[in-house]
Amino acid sequence: MQKKGKVYLIGAGPGDPGLITVRARELIEQADCIVYDYLANAKLLEWTRDDAERLYVGKSAGRHSIPQDEIEEILVNRANKGLQVVRLKGGDPFVFGRGGEEIAELEIDRIDYEIVPGVTAALAAAAYTGIPLSHRDYSSSITFLTGHENPEKQSLSIDFRRYAQLNGTLCIYMGIGQLPRIVEELKDGGMSGETPVAIIEWATLNRQRSIHARLDQIVDALQSSGLGAPAIVIVGEVVAQRSKTEWFEGRPLFGKRIVVTRAREQAGQLTALLENNGAEVIELPFIKIQPEFDGTRVSEVFAGIAVYEWIIFTSANGVKVFFDLFYKAYDDIRCLGPMRIAAVGAATTAEIQKHRLKVDFTPSKANGSVLAAELIEQEGMESIQVLVVTGNQNREELVSRLETEGRAIVDTLPLYKNCRTDLSGDPAAARFRKEGADAVLFTSSSTVKSFVDQADALRLESGARKPAFGSIGPTTSKTLKELNLPLGFEAPQSSLEHFVVETISYLKQS
Ligand code: SAH
Repeated sequence: MQKKGKVYLIGAGPGDPGLITVRARELIEQADCIVYDYLANAKLLEWTRDDAERLYVGKSAGRHSIPQDEIEEILVNRANKGLQVVRLKGGDPFVFGRGGEEIAELEIDRIDYEIVPGVTAALAAAAYTGIPLSHRDYSSSITFLTGHENPEKQSLSIDFRRYAQLNGTLCIYMGIGQLPRIVEELKDGGMSGETPVAIIEWATLNRQRSIHARLDQIVDALQSSGLGAPAIVIVGEVVAQRSKTEWFEGRPLFGKRIVVTRAREQAGQLTALLENNGAEVIELPFIKIQPEFDGTRVSEVFAGIAVYEWIIFTSANGVKVFFDLFYKAYDDIRCLGPMRIAAVGAATTAEIQKHRLKVDFTPSKANGSVLAAELIEQEGMESIQVLVVTGNQNREELVSRLETEGRAIVDTLPLYKNCRTDLSGDPAAARFRKEGADAVLFTSSSTVKSFVDQADALRLESGARKPAFGSIGPTTSKTLKELNLPLGFEAPQSSLEHFVVETISYLKQS
């Protein structure tokens, strides 16, 4: 019998991927098919299975969104094929999200469904600007309203005069385009022109912007700020009660756009450090990792794997491809044998540990040559059989040190190659060209070289911010100078933490 399909209507939250529910994440990870729109953060898609189908049904520049009935058809059609379908919607699916219509259609077609709520934009915008939506002294009601700037819903229209006398908090979704009319109606209905108002754009993302003004002045303030959709308008006395500490927008790199390259294993760590300090990060994927190996060689190595006393992994990518192949060949981890395992650094170690394998050796510095030297010094490698699992680059020094200084017997198993990516059609590169950045952070000489190689795909458009170039240390700075890029700043010590601290202090002065 065919497996029964099911649709999961899931709230993706307001933007920050950390604000999604545990249940939602679990379902995204398992889904066969994900149907998502404009406001659902694309980062959530990184959790999907590699083979999951991803369907974008939102609007994008120059294109209207897919009509609602077509979306419903997609859901029904996939579920009828027995698939687990995740329908991901920004915020909460039942708050101005047309969730009701989608459920009604599923019921007609007798399709099983589940609904997972999400953090709706009004709650998120309030929290991320420190506005308490209710307050014992100022507001004991909270109303969610829509201004209907969405052209698909033009026919409905709220009379805002009716909401002027509630003395509570009004949270207006989709209200930016209609703000002058909304303000007039609220005043007509008797609301004081002194009433404080806040507008929050792209709430919870590092590109969040917000303004505050009295009802009388908010239209002008909006115009001069240049804020636009998506934004929430909050009206009421509570806006004046907002916290003094700007816990979110006050972080040191808030409002700064920083480019990092995704070429190195630590890119994720650098991005996280920058984002935690408030920066908006653009990750440029200069290099793509592609599995590449000689099948006969792999079979030979696996057949003789018991002879190796050490297996050395020089990258997380190597670990991934190695175990993919290993599990295709064997279904019992004990076939790996009793060898000891060395890893070049933290990311590689973490990848090995996913297989419940202990790493016996890591060097004091994450570097192949240091690994060889320390392994020789601490373990004595003479006549020891070693397998080095690598890519197509940066392995010569490791291997030659083990062989010449350590007199080990080394076999290498290259499993992947680094290829240059074509940035011309990449969305992150397109954003960089259009908006520019405050800084580009180079973590190695090779990232500088890739940047120069890809100059055509990275040429800034007029009006884009011109970035300063930051370097993690003297070697990288030297490469910048050699390639005629002006050095803006250099980390005092070559660590990601020092690099971020230096970036903060440089950008504070500039
Ligand atoms: N279901 C969504 C609302 C969808 S309607 C929810 O529960 O949040 C789209 C409107 O939501 C936008 O026009 C804007 O008013 C608001 N919105 C959604 N995400 C937002 C965000 N990150 N920041 C500010 N407003 C947001």
